[in-house]
Amino acid sequence: MKPVIFLLLLLTAAAVSESGYVTVPNVTRNDLEFFSSNGFIIDAVFGSKARLYTDEVQNTQLRNMGYRVFESDAVGTDVPYPSYAEIVTAMNDVVSAHPGIAKIEPYGTSEQGRTLYVVTVSDNVNQDEAEPEIRIHGGIHGDEKSSTMSVLNFLEVLTDNYGTSDMCNYVVDNAELSIITVINPDGYAAHSRTNANGVDLNRDFSYMNPSSYWQGSESVALRNLTMQNWPDQNNYINPYATGLSFHSGSECVNSVWNYSASAVIQDIDLINAQATAYAQHPSITAYYGSWDIWVPGASWYPTEGDVNDWSYGECGTVDYTIEVSDIKSPEDWPGVANANYMPILEFCTTSTYGIYGTVLDGSGNPLDALIEVEQVTDSDSSPLRFCHSDVIDGGYSKALLPGTYNVVATVAGHGSLSQNNITVGSEEMVPVNFVFTTGIGEECYQDIFLKVSVSPNPVAGSCLVTLPDTGVEGTLEIYDISGRAVYRKAVSAGTGSYSLNAGGMLPAGVYNVVFTSGRFSASSRMVVAN
Ligand SMILES: [Zn+2]
Repeated sequence: MKPVIFLLLLLTAAAVSESGYVTVPNVTRNDLEFFSSNGFIIDAVFGSKARLYTDEVQNTQLRNMGYRVFESDAVGTDVPYPSYAEIVTAMNDVVSAHPGIAKIEPYGTSEQGRTLYVVTVSDNVNQDEAEPEIRIHGGIHGDEKSSTMSVLNFLEVLTDNYGTSDMCNYVVDNAELSIITVINPDGYAAHSRTNANGVDLNRDFSYMNPSSYWQGSESVALRNLTMQNWPDQNNYINPYATGLSFHSGSECVNSVWNYSASAVIQDIDLINAQATAYAQHPSITAYYGSWDIWVPGASWYPTEGDVNDWSYGECGTVDYTIEVSDIKSPEDWPGVANANYMPILEFCTTSTYGIYGTVLDGSGNPLDALIEVEQVTDSDSSPLRFCHSDVIDGGYSKALLPGTYNVVATVAGHGSLSQNNITVGSEEMVPVNFVFTTGIGEECYQDIFLKVSVSPNPVAGSCLVTLPDTGVEGTLEIYDISGRAVYRKAVSAGTGSYSLNAGGMLPAGVYNVVFTSGRFSASSRMVVAN
């Protein structure tokens, strides 16, 4: 056969063949490395058995290389689960029942046009406060429905118990949670691992990923919810201190690094403490028996381009993978969800411990800062992973174990400020604030607190944008969540407020309203809900 014809046949076969799970016995670490670096998706490893997500062409390749390949029944397809529409209804029900502490916002669109939703839970939920931010998500693999149910159940029970449970009160009052029940709704609807275009979204993130990435609109949306200007490391709108990425197909906790078993993990002590607290929580052992802990995740099996590595590597978010069930979509999902509730709540609690604060200029405007933290020990100091400030409120936070720390904030054009020998005690949130009085805002306008406000917000039709009077003309601009300017208007000096038909001219979504005047700028988040 001519090579060209053979290649065409191969491509045709690849295009039509269905993907599914197979078990490959007797694999070594070398085999796992080989699979990972040659486009085979490893889903889980149990002792010397690997479960792979393959198509028929790959199965033939594996057999030709001498591997034995067996069909795997990991998924559990016949169990009734709520539809994606029912999940969205359940999220809306939470917000309707608890409007003071929960809000739902669209943050993107799936490949097939389904709206992606994030529920924010915090006290004063309509203000972006400088509190530790935590991201909890499930359903990045659409066939892992027990991951979605664990996240949804946490959202429901947490908000229902606000006001009566001290632990719930603490988390809601002191943290800001971004809860996403389904990252991959097309996969959820089709009960498939990948998105509608066959992209495994948990291999689609950029950090230390030499293959193609950002192929799925769903992974891009998650990135844009975090930062607006990738790949530039600036304009973070939700700089998460920590995160939990829920999966199923195994029962364990793992974390960075997934791309390398030998790369240095700066926050290893915190990660070991939080992973162990989760895996050995009495609620976990009572339901499951014992769980494995894989830190680094690559000691279980290597992957490139997953959410854990990207979150930690690029954003400084300490992110964990929680695998809640050997069967991906088991019958007893209420039991699974219930067993994971308390470990999640305690994880959120310990994620607030450490340092938090704001980085502002002399006029009170938020600054885009890189925060570097090092732990001071008797003999030496060792750097931890950096984090970033939130450009909307200037807030940042870093989860830390008790100890002594030096903290440096660096802002482009302003230089660095440091605060040394900060002591963090047990179960403490220690405020460490920075004010840069040089650079922007150093002169005569220092006493003007620049503030932009949008009312009502969220807005469905027209709203009033109120701008500060700086004494000179300025520009009002609106950016969508990907950082693209969607509106621009010159504003004359002294303008107090400006009526804007935001609902009429913009699709539903989250926007940043920026007012620039002279050397000053101020911004506000605006939610258009049509
Ligand atoms: Zn998964």
